[in-house]
Amino acid sequence: MSALRQRIIEIIRQEGPINVERYMALALGDPQHGYYMTRDPLGASGDFTTSPEISQMFGELIGLWSADLWLRASQPSISLVELGPGRGTLMSDVLRATKAVTGFHDALQVTLVEMSPVLGAIQKQTLADAHPRIEWATTIATLPEKPTIILANEFFDALPIRQFQKRNQAWHECLIGTENDSLIFGLAQESMRMSGPGGSEGDILEYAPISETIMRDLARHLAQFGGAGLIIDYGYTQSGFGDTLQALKAHEFVNPLETPGEADLTVHVNFESLELATRESGARTHGPISQAELLDRLGIDTRVETLIRKASPQQANDIRKARERLMEPTSTGMGHLFKALAISGKEWPTPAGF
Ligand code: SAH
Repeated sequence: MSALRQRIIEIIRQEGPINVERYMALALGDPQHGYYMTRDPLGASGDFTTSPEISQMFGELIGLWSADLWLRASQPSISLVELGPGRGTLMSDVLRATKAVTGFHDALQVTLVEMSPVLGAIQKQTLADAHPRIEWATTIATLPEKPTIILANEFFDALPIRQFQKRNQAWHECLIGTENDSLIFGLAQESMRMSGPGGSEGDILEYAPISETIMRDLARHLAQFGGAGLIIDYGYTQSGFGDTLQALKAHEFVNPLETPGEADLTVHVNFESLELATRESGARTHGPISQAELLDRLGIDTRVETLIRKASPQQANDIRKARERLMEPTSTGMGHLFKALAISGKEWPTPAGF
C-alpha cells in the first residue's frame, strides 16, 4: 500500500471521515508524499501531457499575447507571473518568443508560483538563462505591487474542491472514510442548507472555494495595480451537476482513492464560478472562449507555416500533428474542452483574442 494511503487511513481513524477537499490537498500537496511534491508528472514517461509540452507554439503565442498587451498599455514596468509552471516550458517559450520585442524583457520581473520543490528545481534549470530577474513564490500572497500579467495553464484543475450529493431533498457533503484497508466514498449525515442550486436525487454538486479565493485575490490585484490574466484549463462554462474528480496514472484513468500520492488528481474547472468570483473586484473578464478560438485568433496557423519553412519533412509532420492536437474540436479534445478566460485591470486594453 502507498505510504500516503496508510497515512490518510490513520488520519481518518483518528479524526473521522475527511472531505474531498482535504483528501485532494493531501494526495497532491502532502509535503512528504504528495503527488506534486515528489515527482515530475509531465510528458510521455509521466502521467499526463499539457499544451506547452505538446508544442512550443503554445507558449510562443502566449508570449506574444503578453508583449502585445504590454505594448498597448504604454510599456510600464511589469511583473510577469505564472501559476503552477510545471517544467517551466511555457515560461521558457514565452521569454524566448518575446526577446525581440524591444524593451519588454528590460521592463519585466518574473515570478513563478510553485508549491513543489521537485518541479521548482526543474524550472530553475529550464529557465537558468532565460531572464535575469526570476524569483519563486509558493503562494500568490506576495505578488509584486505593480502592473502584472498572470498566466495559468492547467493550474486551477489541480486545486482541491468540495463535493455534495443530493439525498432525500437535501445536500450532504461527500466524505472519504475507510473500510478495512481501503478508502471509500460516503456522505455526511447532516445536510447543508443551500439556496438555489436545485438538482435531483443523486446529483453531485462541486464547489471550489480555494479556486474562487485565488481568483478573487488575482482580480483585486489586477484592479488595484493594473495588468491582465490568462487562465487556460479544461472545464465548463455554465455551472451544472456531475462528478468530475478524476485520477490519471501513466495516461490511464484510475480510481481516485486507490493510489493517493501516486496518481494525478484533477477536476474540471467551473469557469462560471471563477468569473463570478471576480465580480466585486472592479476587474473585467473576457470570454471564456475555447482554446481553439484563442490559438486561432492569436495566429497559430501563421506560426505553423513559419516553423515548417525551416523544418525537415518529419519535423513538419510533427508540427502539423501538434497543431491538430492543440486545436482538436471533439468534446474531449484540447481545442474544445479547454477554455481560456482573461481578466484585465480597469484601465487596461482588452487582451488579444477576446
Ligand atoms: N502549467 C504547467 C503544469 C501543470 S501541472 C503545464 O501546463 O505544463 C500543475 C502545476 O501546478 C504543477 O507545477 C504543480 O506543482 C502546481 N501546483 C498545484 N497545486 C498548487 C498550489 N496549490 N500552489 C502552487 N502550485 C501548485
